Amino acid sequence: MPESFKYTKELAKLFTTSDNILLISHINPDGDAIGAQLAIYHYLRSVGKNADMIAPNNLQEFLKWMNGADLINVYIKQREKCRVLIEKADLIVMLDFNQSNRLGEAEKHVLSSKAKKAVIDHHLNPDNFSDILISDPTVCSTSELIYQIVTNINEKPFISKPYAEALYVGIITDTGNFEHGAYSGNTFRIVADLLETGIDRSTIQNLIYNNFSADRMRLMGYALNQKMVILPEYQTAYMFLSRSELASYNYVKGDTEGFVNMPLSISGIVFSVLFIEKEGFVKLSFRSKGTFPSNEFAKKFFYGGGHLNASGGEYPGTLGNTIEYFLKVLKENFDNLNKIS
Ligand code: 5GP
Ligand code: MN
Repeated sequence: MPESFKYTKELAKLFTTSDNILLISHINPDGDAIGAQLAIYHYLRSVGKNADMIAPNNLQEFLKWMNGADLINVYIKQREKCRVLIEKADLIVMLDFNQSNRLGEAEKHVLSSKAKKAVIDHHLNPDNFSDILISDPTVCSTSELIYQIVTNINEKPFISKPYAEALYVGIITDTGNFEHGAYSGNTFRIVADLLETGIDRSTIQNLIYNNFSADRMRLMGYALNQKMVILPEYQTAYMFLSRSELASYNYVKGDTEGFVNMPLSISGIVFSVLFIEKEGFVKLSFRSKGTFPSNEFAKKFFYGGGHLNASGGEYPGTLGNTIEYFLKVLKENFDNLNKIS
């Protein structure tokens, strides 16, 4: 049994003794965060537990079809209701993140709540902000870990289509359709079990990957054609989009998902960065190939973190001065970081 499971029994006990269980995903929740959250919600409800869900901010459009997604309370839209849920919870389970600032505005309320707190996650080097930490960076996704934990607690696989669908979404989105990340033979064994519940793989595939607007595709073309800069001497490519450019393509949340991966298909490029202008700050997405540690770069220079090959961060500046700062730190640090690899 993996080391990370040593707290599973304790978690099971807390599930049994808690009347109000609150499940919280991270800010800008991705398919894995929402998949893990919904899967554990469906399991808890099936065993008669009272569970509620919060996401720090809005879900991306392509996740909204998921069974139970409409029951997720969005903190920045329903602050009062979410504070009450945090207040009355006796167990708070945090999913798919390892630093408390990923709770966004909910952070201070969650940290000061009297509830027992558990973290279930697969990122390296978790911070210590919970009573129970179930962390396994050897799995591809938090969803894979949830499958193992629930199977353990349930003493056999929990068979339910909404549960299987949620975990399947978490696994395919965190591995980019089995292209990257820490997937293993066991991931495929789990996927086999999930598919055998009768979930419709091709429908899910279409809902996640083939469900965008024409504007989004034109935005992608624009970004690649007009806004991509290649720095061959640093094996790096970056793209940047302003708020007004996004608006002119009728941007909805989730539209830029996947853009940052594309420059990695260029021969010789090992590091790709996407800058998205937000109100008062810039959000950065980092992707890398091989052993270039994108997460170290994110952590050291952009208040962020993540996985070796997929990470993110932010910078409190304009698009222009964020890129300027990025170029400076890239030039100063590329060789060193690339040497680690
Ligand atoms: P994305 O580029 O898709 O937004 O994020 C990729 C991964 O990077 C996420 O799954 C998450 O692990 C990590 N990540 C993104 N933004 C941040 C951030 O601001 N802080 C931290 N710690 N991790 C982030
Ligand atoms: Mn994840």
